[in-house]
Amino acid sequence: MQMTAKYCSNCDHILHADKYHCPICYTDELELMELSGYGEVYSYTKIHAAPKSLAHLAPYFIILVDLAEGLRVTARYQGEDLEIGKRVQLKEVDGRAYVFGDV
Ligand SMILES: [Zn+2]
Repeated sequence: MQMTAKYCSNCDHILHADKYHCPICYTDELELMELSGYGEVYSYTKIHAAPKSLAHLAPYFIILVDLAEGLRVTARYQGEDLEIGKRVQLKEVDGRAYVFGDV
């Protein structure tokens, strides 16, 4: 499963793939890199009243994941037992949404 970020070839900073300049050294010399897809749950919330396009999934969890590479991303969680600090793994990319599950 592919998850990408950008890597600053000037100062080694890793940043989200939609960025065009490094926030540390301001260079635009960025390269695409592939992320491991592993991380830990930083926080989460359970969605009961979902938007129409996701109503069939409700109730579901939205999680903040601290990735192994140091970035924090928002994702959906596929599974039952969820707690802060739990290790999770990218399972699929649904449109523009990351979906994580148990390792
Ligand atoms: Zn930089």
